[in-house]
Amino acid sequence: MASIAILGGGFSGSLLALKLRAAAPDLDIVLVERGAEIGKGVAYGCCDSRHLLNVPVHRMELGLDVSFIDWLRADQARLASSPGQSGGVLEDAFVPRALFGAYLHEKMNEAVSASGGRLAIVRGEAVEVEAGRLVTVRLRDGRTLQVDRVVLALGHLPPRLPTSFESPVYASPRYVADPWEKGALNGIGPDEPVVMIGSGLTMVDVALHLARQGHKGSLTALSRRGHLPQVHRGGGAWPALVLPADRSPRNLISFLRAEAARAEAAGVPWQRVADAARPVAASLWQGWTAIERALFLRHLRPWWDLHRHRMAPEAAEALAAMESSGHLRVLGGRIEALEAGPAGIELRYRPRGQKAPASLQAAHIVNCTGPNMSIGRTGEPIILSLIRQNLLKEDPLGLGLETDDCAVIDGYGWPSKWLFALGPLTRPSLWEVTAVPEIRVQVERLALRLAGTAQAASLVPRPRHALASAFADLGAGI
Ligand SMILES: Cc1cc2nc3c(=O)[nH]c(=O)nc-3n(C[C@H](O)[C@H](O)[C@H](O)COP(=O)(O)OP(=O)(O)OC[C@H]3O[C@@H](n4cnc5c(N)ncnc54)[C@H](O)[C@@H]3O)c2cc1C
Repeated sequence: MASIAILGGGFSGSLLALKLRAAAPDLDIVLVERGAEIGKGVAYGCCDSRHLLNVPVHRMELGLDVSFIDWLRADQARLASSPGQSGGVLEDAFVPRALFGAYLHEKMNEAVSASGGRLAIVRGEAVEVEAGRLVTVRLRDGRTLQVDRVVLALGHLPPRLPTSFESPVYASPRYVADPWEKGALNGIGPDEPVVMIGSGLTMVDVALHLARQGHKGSLTALSRRGHLPQVHRGGGAWPALVLPADRSPRNLISFLRAEAARAEAAGVPWQRVADAARPVAASLWQGWTAIERALFLRHLRPWWDLHRHRMAPEAAEALAAMESSGHLRVLGGRIEALEAGPAGIELRYRPRGQKAPASLQAAHIVNCTGPNMSIGRTGEPIILSLIRQNLLKEDPLGLGLETDDCAVIDGYGWPSKWLFALGPLTRPSLWEVTAVPEIRVQVERLALRLAGTAQAASLVPRPRHALASAFADLGAGI
C-alpha cells in the first residue's frame, strides 16, 4: 500500500491530507507537525480576535463537505465573534483568522477519526529526509518514518535579520526576532516604547495585538518607505484583464496603474483591478526572463506588495485610531545603527528624503519584516539536510526552492518523483502562491496527482506551466 508523509500540518499540509483522503482512501498518510495544533500554522494559530483574515470569507472556501461559511453560520458564538460582519454580508466579511484555524482543525480531527488509521498525526519536527528504496523521514527525537513519498508543507521560513548589518542588539532579550513565536510579545511592558521594523501586515498584527494587551507606550513603525498596507474595499466589478503585448514588468505595472485610474474614474474601486491581476500573475511571472524577474523584485515589488497585500477595513480603522491618538506613528527611513544601552536600544536612521540623521529610543525592537524567503539563509535542519544531499536547490533570486508543478527539482535540475512541495516555498516558479485561493488550487492538483500515483505507482509527467494556467481559472476578485 502506498504511503505519503506530509511534513508540516499547517494550512497546506492539512488541506492536502483532507483532499488525499477524498481522492485516495486507501493511501496511508502521515502528517508530521512540530507545533501544538493541526490545521492552524502561523497565520491561523498565532492570533487573537483582533487579527482578521485579509481575504473575505467567500475567498477562504476550500471545497470541503461543510463550507467555511456554513460552519460559521452553524454556531451563534462563531458569528458573534466575527466583528467584521456586523451589519454586513457574511460572505464579504473579514472574520478573525482564528476562526478559520478552528474550522480546519475541526475538519482534520473528523478526518483522522473517520480514517480507520489511514490518516495519522505524528507530533514532532522532521529534521532529515533520506532517499532509499523507501524514503526515511527522521524526527528530532530520533524516531523515523518510512514512506513512498514526501511532501514539504513547511510554510514560511522564520524572518531573517531586519538589517543588512549584524548588531549585538540581535542577541539581546529586548529584540523580538520572530513576532509569530508563541509568547514572543509577552515581555513588552504596557508603558514601554516599542519600535517595529517594517510597516506591512506583520506590523499591523503586532500593533493590534499590543493594543489589545493594554499597551499604552509609544509604538513606532519604521520602514524604508513608511507606507501602511492599502485597505480592502468591496463593491464594483472589473472584467478580466486584456494584457498588453509588451508584458515586461515595467510596462505591466504602468498598464495596471492606467487600468486602476480607469476603474476609479468609472466608480469602481482600484482594488478590483488588483484582484483581476492576481489570477494571471503566475503565468506572467513564468513568462519573464530571469532579468525581468530580478527587475520586478528590485523596482516594482514594493508597489505590487502594497496593493496586493491589503488589510481588512476594521484593522485599518483600528490602526487609524491608534495613529490619531498618538499611540502609533509610521516613519520612513533607512536604519544605520542599533545600539544597546542600560535604558534600552538606540536606533539611528536616516529619514526618507532627508540628509540629517535621526534616532529613536526603544525598550524593545520587534522584527516585522515578514517571513524569510531564502532557503540559502535559513537554519531549518530539514532544508539543510535536503540541500546537503543535493535533493533540492534554491532559485537564483533567493525566493524559495525550485519546483515543477510541485515536484521538487534537485541540484542536477531533475524534478523528483517522490519529493514534492507546497505553499510559499514554491514561490520561485509561481510568485503568487502564499494565500489560500492559490494554495488550494495547488493542493487539489497535487492530491489528484498523488492519488493517481498511489494506484499506478508511476507519475504522469505534467506539462510545465500547467499550474500557473490553473490559477487563471480562479477568476478575478481573489
Ligand atoms: C500572519 C499571516 C496572516 C495571513 N493571513 C492570511 C489570510 O487572511 N488569508 C490568506 O489567504 N492567506 C493568509 N496568509 C498567507 C498564508 O501563508 C497562507 O494562508 C497559509 O497559511 C500558508 O500555509 P502553509 O501550510 O504553507 O504554512 P503554515 O500554515 O504556517 O504551516 C506550516 C506548518 O509546518 C510546520 N513545520 C514547519 N517545519 C516543520 C518541520 N520541520 N517539521 C514538522 N512541522 C514543521 C509548522 O509548525 C506549521 O504548522 C497569512 C500569512 C501570515 C504569515
